Amino acid sequence: MRWRDGRRSQNVEDRRGSRVGLGGGGMRLGGGGILLLLLGAWLLGVNPLTVLSVLAGGGGETLQLPDTGTGSEPGSAAGGAPADAGADFVSVVLADTEDTWTELFAQSGARYAPPKLVLFTQVVRSACGTAQAAMGPFYCPLDQTVYIDLEFYRELRDRFGAPGDFAQAYVVAHEVGHHVQALLGTSEQVRAAQQRAGKAQANALSVRLELQADCYAGVWAHHANRARQVLEAGDVEEGLAAAAAIGDDRLQQQTQGEVMPEAFTHGSSKQRVEWFGRGMETGSLERCDTFRS
Ligand SMILES: [Zn+2]
Repeated sequence: MRWRDGRRSQNVEDRRGSRVGLGGGGMRLGGGGILLLLLGAWLLGVNPLTVLSVLAGGGGETLQLPDTGTGSEPGSAAGGAPADAGADFVSVVLADTEDTWTELFAQSGARYAPPKLVLFTQVVRSACGTAQAAMGPFYCPLDQTVYIDLEFYRELRDRFGAPGDFAQAYVVAHEVGHHVQALLGTSEQVRAAQQRAGKAQANALSVRLELQADCYAGVWAHHANRARQVLEAGDVEEGLAAAAAIGDDRLQQQTQGEVMPEAFTHGSSKQRVEWFGRGMETGSLERCDTFRS
């Protein structure tokens, strides 16, 4: 991906290495805490089973808080432009989504209010609750912020076999896709429908919401490439490979050894590839109507 000359976003907040201040030296998660975490995971479209297995695998209920390493004051890392390549890259991708969605919204006479993006390590507090890096990157509609621990990119490459910068851009663009859904009112409608629905139906609605975010990520890539020629040879394949790598069926196979379609919350690998691909090919929001098809 061609990105080094791109604009940097003003909406990145670097909270890496800052402590989640909950008093004391650690954060105990009692039964209620776990429930809250699971509820949060469900709201965010994360498979609660993943969170449970993370907690179980953690060998205890005490979350390890990030080690600041440098001995810096808590919060001192916040603000300012991050200097490292990983953060720099995310900042450029975010800026590109800002430019692209601003243009697309303007075409239909609307104003795009960009999301914030918070970089964190291990644990982060959001308006949607406290989240662990193991839950993966997420978007919180309550504070209109994307949260990402860059360690996820190493996981994506090493554990899920999806390397490459465009694979990483897809992850940011997917979360920004959720922000677009929030602005358009889609997420709110889906949440309301989910509250009336049973578990299986709620999961099915979650899948449609996630596939639409994939499609929106593709729409971003389509327009970014048309305006700024960001794509290089192999990029499309990288993005599609990443979409396939984090399909529910493949993740379930890896973590549980079996596939349970009724527990899908994000869609199968095949579906994720299809919808991301559809957005990339057409560049059309209207073609991202995952709720109708
Ligand atoms: Zn998502």
